[in-house]
Parts: sequence; C-alpha cells; structure tokens
Amino acid sequence: MRQITQNYVDGAFQPVSDGEEAPLFNPATEEQIGTVRLSNVNDVNAAVAAAKRAFTRISGTPPAERAEMLRRLSVAVSVNGDRMAETMREEYGAPSSFVDFSARRAGSVFLDMAATLESFAWQRRIGSAEVEMRPIGVAAAITPWNSNYGFICGKLATAIAAGTSIVIKPSEMSALQTQVLTEALHKAGLPAGVLNIVNGSGAVAGAALTAHPDIAKISFTGSTVTGRAILQSAAETMKRVTLELGGKGAQIILDDADLEAAVAQVLASGFINSGQACIAGTRVLVPARLMPEVRDRLVAGLADWPVGPASDPASRIGPMVSRKQWERVQSYIRLGTQEGATIIAGGEVRPAGLDRGWFVRPTLFADVDNATRIAREEIFGPVLCVISYDNDEDAVRIANDADYGLQNFVLGGDPERTWRVAARLESGRVTINGAAHEPLAPFGGCKQSGIGREFGVFGLETFLEPQVVLT
Ligand code: NAD
Repeated sequence: MRQITQNYVDGAFQPVSDGEEAPLFNPATEEQIGTVRLSNVNDVNAAVAAAKRAFTRISGTPPAERAEMLRRLSVAVSVNGDRMAETMREEYGAPSSFVDFSARRAGSVFLDMAATLESFAWQRRIGSAEVEMRPIGVAAAITPWNSNYGFICGKLATAIAAGTSIVIKPSEMSALQTQVLTEALHKAGLPAGVLNIVNGSGAVAGAALTAHPDIAKISFTGSTVTGRAILQSAAETMKRVTLELGGKGAQIILDDADLEAAVAQVLASGFINSGQACIAGTRVLVPARLMPEVRDRLVAGLADWPVGPASDPASRIGPMVSRKQWERVQSYIRLGTQEGATIIAGGEVRPAGLDRGWFVRPTLFADVDNATRIAREEIFGPVLCVISYDNDEDAVRIANDADYGLQNFVLGGDPERTWRVAARLESGRVTINGAAHEPLAPFGGCKQSGIGREFGVFGLETFLEPQVVLT
C-alpha cells in the first residue's frame, strides 16, 4: 500500500495538512493499492501564494528561456516513460496500447508547445496600436482521471509558454500517477513556485482553487456538470476559463463508404480509452438501407475488441476506472433496454471469465431513437448507439441534435461529399475517415462541450491577455 501524503509547492514536496484520506484502487482487481491525503483550503492557499510569488519572475522571462524550460520538462518526463506507464496500468487499467501512447505523448506536448512558442507573435501592430500579448496572471488547472499525464502536461506546457505560474489539482483518483509524474517534473528544475500540484477532492480543494481571488485563469477538463459549477464560481472575480467538457460524438457512415474499413474505424473511435473518452464517437449513424449489413459487421467486429486487464497485451478494452463508473455504465445499459433500444451485442453483467475488476461488456444498441437518454447523455464506457438515417441531410440533422459538440466523424468514399457533410457539423473537430490527430491544431468543443480551445497558438492565447498601447 502506498501512501501519498505530500503536495508539490514552491519547488519542493511538502506535507498535506492533516486531513481526510481517500483510497486508491487497482480497477482490474478491485484491490486497494494506496491512499491519498486530501488537501484543505490552507494547503490550496499556500500553493496559490507560491504561484503568485513566482509569477513576477516567470512573466518577465524571455520566450527563449521558457522554450528551454519546456525542452527540459520534455526530457524529464520522457525518461520516466516506463515508470509512468507501469503506474498508469496499475491505477487506471487502460489497455497497454493506450497507456504506452499516453505516457510517451506526455513528454512530447512540451516540445509541441516549444515549437508554438518559437514562432508566436508577441507584438502585433494594428493601425496606430501596438498590441502586446502578456501573460494573464496565475493560472489554475483541474484535471480528470482518464488521461492524467496528458492533461497535466498539456496545461503545464501552455502555462510555461505563456509565462504564467500554475497550480494544478489533478483527479484524486489518479494520485499514484500524479506522484510519479511530479517526481519527473521536479527534475526539470523549474524556478520554485512556477509549478504547484495539490492533491485533493473537487468539493474542497477544487472549489477553493476555482474561487481563489489570486487565480486569473482556470483551465478545466472534466464533466459538464463540474464545468458549469466552475464557470459560476469564476464569474465572481471574472476569471478567464477554458472548459474541456463532455461529448456525444456522431460517426456518420455515408452510403458510399467502404464498409469494412468504416466499421473497423467506428469501433476504434467508439472504444478509444475503453470508451472513457470525451472524444469517443458513441452515436453511430447508418443509412437505413445499409443497416442490416452494418449491424452484422459491427457485431462481428467486436471479436477484435477483447476485454481484459492491462497486463494482458491482447486486451483492447480495460476496466472502468472505479466501481462508481462501472455502476454508471451498467445503469445506462439497463436504461437503454427500458427506452426501447435493442441490444445486439454485450449487455449487463461482467464479461465471461472476468468476475473481478470493473470490466464491462462492449455493448451495441440498435434501433436507438436520438431523443432517448442513452443517445443524449455521456455514458463514458464502451457502449455505442446505432441510429438509422434516411439521407445526408437527415444524418447532419441527427448529428447536430445534441447538447454536446466536441468531435464528430464522417466516413465515406467521395472526398467532396465527406467535406460537405463535415462542414455542416456543429463540433470543434470533425475527423474524416479516421484521419490522424494533429497536435498543434486547436482542440475544444461547441455547445455544452465547453468554452475555448487548447494546444498550439489557440491554446497559448487563452493564457494571454492583449494589451494595447496607442502612439
Ligand atoms: P469530474 O468533473 O467529476 O472531475 C474532474 C476534476 O474536477 C477532478 O479533478 C475533480 O476532483 C474536480 N472537481 C469536481 N468537482 C469540482 C468542483 N466543484 N470544483 C472544482 N473542481 C471539481 O470529471 P471526471 O469524472 O473526473 O472525468 C470524466 C469527465 O471528464 C467526462 O464527463 C468527460 O467527458 C470529461 N472529459 C473531457 C475531456 C475534454 O477534453 N473535453 C477530456 C477528458 C474527460
């Protein structure tokens, strides 16, 4: 049993004041593997005070010096990739392919941001105005459990690039991963107070951080419900916010798609990160006349998506992160049947042979009405809703009939037609035929998927404030 009892404040590991402890679990075995001590308001205040002192120094550094810091951070994280991956496998349980990708990419986000920084226009002339992009003030980041390293590193990289200090409160369910990552980040030798990490609950530490008057900017990734609470709290002192929230992406299979490739892609985009992904395409839109064939192909395709622990290299779907998440997914599977959808694969109860661990059977619902809750609410597990449409117009209408707008997908044979459909979708991102991720492109959502964008130039600008001098 490991015990996490320290925060990282002012360049050093410091004990959390005596407080409540939360258990940490291995989701593949349900065994408790550790505890984390939860910070109180005083711990948060100490971290913000350290960040405030450091802001004066970091905000005055030249961009080249900060690019150097980013390169050091990248090395410090990358050399710890194996240890990070091992801890993520144990505490989060995602399949090895996702864990390896996540642990490796964590170091590269610093290099992506260094590249953005080097060509960034800090001064701009607009008519008679001299515009200077200035660091916004002390930032706070609050992150979820479904890609702990990636979210912490992405937000830290942007803060450093912008010249702001930051206090990060990661998910209390990822404390072992946070500890390993923090030990790596410490080795980069940032000026004291530029990076501060506090362990704690959302209700206490998260709320204290987002209400703190010395925080100028909040970068949050998590659920829409929490995002709404943070937005309200931020309004009090007009904090700037970036909110990366939930999703319920549509995957539109056009009637000229190569069905074999499209179905394989649909399953990959639907089951990414065991379905615990905001970008997962969980509504599969299928032309009515192709429905029987696509249904059969989807069911057959599940053979390529074995469920199991991260220790089994064949696993492509791991356990849900917690009992609570497992119960939530089970309740949606029950709900789907009550709402009149047809289970064509999967269903309630654990997969055969996995009677321990928070494993879920990958589940496909057919005959889904887009107005029902399983089609509208984020389930955050390997559960896909297959929905029939009549023509391209109808597909666009159904895809856009959603409260979320993070990422949609179009699969088809005619490039012009896929573009035409993509251009009409209301989401921050549209992926055509499984195109690869572009790390410097803006990432974020429309509607209730959030506010603002992360990564590259667009992400950097959300940590800056333009100041105009008229001459
Ligand atoms: P969550 O909203 O419960 O928690 C996220 C973080 O917010 C945690 O650190 C938590 O402690 C903290 N928090 C909770 N209540 C708070 C409060 N009142 N004030 C301040 N902080 C508070 O989300 P989760 O269950 O950890 O993560 C899953 C959710 O995150 C899903 O809805 C998913 O879609 C979303 N998500 C979005 C993205 C994206 O980029 N859009 C990426 C990953 C996950």
